[in-house]
Amino acid sequence: MSSKSCNTIAIGNFKIPCYSANTLVIGSGGASLNAAVQLHELGQKNILIVTDQWGGGTSNNSGSDKQTYYKMSLAGNVPDSSLDMAQDLFKGGCMHGDIALCEAQNSARAFFHLVHLGVPFPHDRFGAFVGYKTDHDPKQRGTSAGPLTSHNMFMALADEVKKKEISVLDKHEVIALLTDSSLKYKRVIGAIALDKTSLDSGNFGFVIFNAENVVLGTGGPAGIYKTSVYPESQVGSHGLAFEIGAVGHNLTESQFGLASIKFRWNLSGTYQQVIPRYVSTDKEGKDEQEFLNNYFPDMGRLATAVFLKGYQWPFDPRKVFDYGSSLIDLLVYQEIVDKGRRVFLDFTRNPSGANILEDFSFDLLGKEAFVYLENSGALFGTPIERLAKMNQPAINLYKDHGIDITRDYLEIAVCAQHNNGGLKSNIWWESNIKHLFPVGEVNGTHGVYRPGGSALNSGQVGSLRAAQFIARRYRDMPLDENRFLAFTEGQIKERLDQAGSFLQSGAFDRPSIEIIREEIQKRISSCGAHIRSFEKVEAALQEAWELYGRLKTGMKGCSAQDLPAAFKIRDLCLTHTLYLEAILEYLNKGGRSRGSYLVLDESGEKPCSQLDEKWRFSLENEESSDRGRILEICLDDDGKIRKTWVDVRPVPREDSWFENIWSEFRKDDVIKEA
Ligand SMILES: Cc1cc2nc3c(=O)[nH]c(=O)nc-3n(C[C@H](O)[C@H](O)[C@H](O)COP(=O)(O)OP(=O)(O)OC[C@H]3O[C@@H](n4cnc5c(N)ncnc54)[C@H](O)[C@@H]3O)c2cc1C
Repeated sequence: MSSKSCNTIAIGNFKIPCYSANTLVIGSGGASLNAAVQLHELGQKNILIVTDQWGGGTSNNSGSDKQTYYKMSLAGNVPDSSLDMAQDLFKGGCMHGDIALCEAQNSARAFFHLVHLGVPFPHDRFGAFVGYKTDHDPKQRGTSAGPLTSHNMFMALADEVKKKEISVLDKHEVIALLTDSSLKYKRVIGAIALDKTSLDSGNFGFVIFNAENVVLGTGGPAGIYKTSVYPESQVGSHGLAFEIGAVGHNLTESQFGLASIKFRWNLSGTYQQVIPRYVSTDKEGKDEQEFLNNYFPDMGRLATAVFLKGYQWPFDPRKVFDYGSSLIDLLVYQEIVDKGRRVFLDFTRNPSGANILEDFSFDLLGKEAFVYLENSGALFGTPIERLAKMNQPAINLYKDHGIDITRDYLEIAVCAQHNNGGLKSNIWWESNIKHLFPVGEVNGTHGVYRPGGSALNSGQVGSLRAAQFIARRYRDMPLDENRFLAFTEGQIKERLDQAGSFLQSGAFDRPSIEIIREEIQKRISSCGAHIRSFEKVEAALQEAWELYGRLKTGMKGCSAQDLPAAFKIRDLCLTHTLYLEAILEYLNKGGRSRGSYLVLDESGEKPCSQLDEKWRFSLENEESSDRGRILEICLDDDGKIRKTWVDVRPVPREDSWFENIWSEFRKDDVIKEA
C-alpha cells in the first residue's frame, strides 16, 4: 500500500484525492516494476506505482513448457556481439534498427540485473549462463528459468519494490491520461484512476495523479480477443494512449498459436514433441475423429509436423505448405470455426491412422524428431509416458489447475498470445507524447518476426532505458497544484460527466457491457487474428466505428460498481477499431500473408489438395519493400484517423572509439533526445 501523502482537490462539487510524484508507473507487470526499481536505483525515488490488480497481467500469470528469455550469448565458444544480435532482431522485418541495437546492447545488463535480484537462470560451475537456440535465433541466445520465467521475474522485482519501499496503490484502474496541450508539443502531466474500493463514494472513486512523467506498462491488448492464451487478468489499456494521440505502429503484427483454453497455457515444447493425438468431437463430445488423417498424406509427415510444433510454436504461414507444422493450426481452426466442432489433445494414446493412414510408429518419424526422442530416451510408450520421462512438471502444472492429462483430453484452440506491435517510442522509450514512456508489451518494438524470448528482453531493456532518461533529464517536481488544475480541470470534469452519465437511467447494465465485450472479441478473433480477408475486415471496421459512436453517447444505466468496466469497454472498443484500421490499410495496400497471419487470396496457392478452395493464399515476398516500411496510426486532435507509412531506420554504425565516447560521457552528452 502507498505510504505517499496526498491532497484533496475540488472539481465542482467533487472532492478528489490527488497524488503528486515525479514519475507515475502504471501497471505491475515485469516491465513496469523494473522501471520503478531501476528509477530508484538511479536516484529517482519520488515514484508511485498504480495498478488495477497487484500481480495481475501476463508476466505473473503466464508461461509455457520452457518460457524463454532472449539475451546475448554469454557462454562457451558461441561468438556473439551486440551488433550481431541487433541485426538478428532487425531481420525480423519492420523493426527499427536503432531500437534493435538498444535491445541488443542492453540485453546483458538487463539480464544480469534479474540474476542479481535472484531470478534462477541456470548457470554451470564456472558461471556460464548457457543458452539454447530459440526460434529465429542463430546463436543459442535463449535461456529459461523453467515454465514460469516471467513469474519468477515478477516475484523478484516485486520483492525489490517492497525492499525499496516504493509506494504502490493497488486496485486503482487508470481510465485516462492527462495532458498539457499549451506547448508546441503535447505532453502528459498525469492520469485519472478509479479506486475500485470506493466506487460508491460521492466522487465515483476518482483519484487524480499529478506527475512529471508517466511510465505506461499496461501490457498487451488481451481484452480484444475471444480466443486467447493471455491470462484472464490481462486486459490491456492501449485506448488510454490512443485517446491522447499516441502513435501506434505495427498493430498488424501479433502472434497466435495452439493453447489450452480451460486453463490458458501455451502448448509448445515437450507437449508437442511427445506427439499427442489430435481429436475433434461434436459440441457434445461425441463423434470423435482424428481429423488430421484426412489432410496429411502419411503418418510419418503427420507425426513429424506435430513434433515440430514444439519449437515452431507460433502460427507461421510459411510453414503451412508441404505439410509443415502450421498446417496443424489451420486444420484445428477449421474444425472449430468452420465446422463448429471442439478439438482436444489426447496424451493417453499414440495417433492412429483410423484406416486412412498407417498407425503411429517411431520409424515413420523424420530424422530430426527421431533423433531428438532417441537422445531423450523417449522412443517408447504413449505420449503421456514420454512426457512423464521428459518433463514431469508439464503434467503437474495441469494437475495443479484441475486438469489430469494422464487421463483426460485437453481442449485447445489457436489463440492470441502476443502483440509484436504497439505504441511507438524513440530509443529512450519515450512516445510521441512527451514524458509518456510505454514499456513492455504495450510498446511494440518488434515487427513481423521476432526471436522467441525477445519480448521479455525488450520489456526489461525498455524500462531500463526509460528510467535512465527520466532519472537524468526529467527530474523536475510535478507542477504546482494550481497550474496542474489549470491544464487538467476540463479533462477531469469531462470524465466526471461521463461517469455521471453512465449512472443515469438507461440500458447499459453489467450484462450489456459483457455482451459488448463479447461482440468486440468475436469481431477481432474472427477477422483480425491469424486468418484475415479484405472483405471481412472492411465490414468489421464499419461495425467497430458504429459501436464506438454508440458507446460515446449511449452508455447509461450502469451501477457505480460497473464504472471500471464501462470505461474499459470504451478503451477496448477504440483499441480494436485502431487495430482493424491498421489491418485494413495493410490489406488495402495488397499486403499478403506473413508473420503469424494468413491473408486469404483466391489468386494464391492451395496449402494442400484436400483443403477447400477458400484456403488459397500467397506469401509476402521477403525481399519486398513492405518489410522496409512501418505503418503508423493515430487519432489526431479532431478524433480523425491518421495513417503514415515510414521507412525502417537501419541499425546504426556508431563511432566506438573509446576516447570519443568517454569525452561525450564526461560532458553528459549521451542521454539526450533522439
Ligand atoms: C502464454 C504466454 C507465454 C509467453 N511466453 C513468452 C516467452 O517464452 N518469452 C517471451 O519473451 N515472452 C513470452 N510471452 C510474452 C510476455 O510474457 C509478455 O509480453 C510480458 O510478460 C508482458 O509484460 P508487461 O510487463 O509488458 O505486461 P504485463 O505483465 O501484462 O503487465 C501489465 C500490467 O498492467 C496492469 N494494467 C493494465 N491496464 C491497467 C490500467 N488501466 N490501470 C492500472 N493497471 C493496469 C495489469 O494489471 C498488469 O499488472 C508469453 C505470453 C503469454 C501469454
